[in-house]
Amino acid sequence: MTHIKLLTERCISSGNCVDVAPHAFDMDDAGLVVALVDEVEHGARRQVEAAAQVCPVQAILLEG
Ligand code: SF4
Repeated sequence: MTHIKLLTERCISSGNCVDVAPHAFDMDDAGLVVALVDEVEHGARRQVEAAAQVCPVQAILLEG
């Protein structure tokens, strides 16, 4: 399983990750990214990887 680590201090609220993987990411009231899941199922990894790639500030790290 892949673990999602967020560097929220980098988040600039672009929303790209939410557009690409809405099952895994959302924004809080302050507009900062939050993860809806801690661990990514194997079948959803590609979508979460795509979300990490479209983040303009590399705030989404995938471990494992
Ligand atoms: S794509 Fe990156 S900067 Fe944009 S909301 Fe997601 S984590 Fe924040």
